[in-house]
Amino acid sequence: PGPVSEHGPAKIIAMCNQKGGVGKTTSTINLGAALAEYGRRVLLVDFDPQGALSVGLGVNPMELDLTVYNLLMERGLAPDEVLLKTAVAGMDLLPSNIDLSAAEVQLVSEVARESTLQRALGPMLNDYDFIVIDCQPSLGLLTVNALTAAHKVIVPLECEFFALRGVALLTETIEKVQERLNPELELDGILATMYDSRTVHSREVLARVVEAFDDNVYHTVIGRTVRFPETTVAGEPITTYASNSVGAAAYRQLAREVLARCHAE
Ligand code: ADP
Ligand code: MG
Repeated sequence: PGPVSEHGPAKIIAMCNQKGGVGKTTSTINLGAALAEYGRRVLLVDFDPQGALSVGLGVNPMELDLTVYNLLMERGLAPDEVLLKTAVAGMDLLPSNIDLSAAEVQLVSEVARESTLQRALGPMLNDYDFIVIDCQPSLGLLTVNALTAAHKVIVPLECEFFALRGVALLTETIEKVQERLNPELELDGILATMYDSRTVHSREVLARVVEAFDDNVYHTVIGRTVRFPETTVAGEPITTYASNSVGAAAYRQLAREVLARCHAE
């Protein structure tokens, strides 16, 4: 992909699957870092009260005074007061911590509660080319906020039996949000993760995913490797931690596919 001379308005991507441990956070960090390597300005939004995205970028969530929670709940707070720079040039972070779990309850009584995140991100759209939202493992109000704010959804799917279980519920939720809240929302793609080419099992699951979702499956497949858990401990993306690794190459390939699907190469 070529460099870009002008930035924004941002395409917003929700990284979403209500199942935990499928690679949402890992994919958010590494897709973001790969897009930044290609010269795109990237904002990553930690939208899980667990704060794993923040931890994965070397931030201690417990020490934060202001997080995405404050941006949602306090009108008039400037994004700059919450934004953090990351070690990756061109990539910023809206961090989160356990405070965000209160938002799920507090938002229920708000007017237009589903579009709170969309309103909070509004002032930042022109500063970035991509905003990637790392969703929590549920289909509750926070995730509905992410889907309402997003243009596109990426669904990471672990290459395990039963991976497809629950996808129908996710697809239904995406369709409801499309109908009622965000007609622009599109499924960008299904991302097969934790693929182990040595097992027949992984290959069978991948074949079933492709059969079920066809063109919606990215050509990029993320292999299973211990390198990813290592990057979490290191607090940096695989693209810098192990720049020449297979895992880094895979996320760069995913970034090129995402750019192509957005017609932004
Ligand atoms: P989620 O955000 O969906 O819960 P994570 O990205 O946190 O999933 O991944 C869950 C765990 O699996 C983490 O410990 C992460 O380091 C590890 N992991 C993620 N992707 C891979 C992979 N391709 N191979 C091996 N381990 C992975
Ligand atoms: Mg996560």
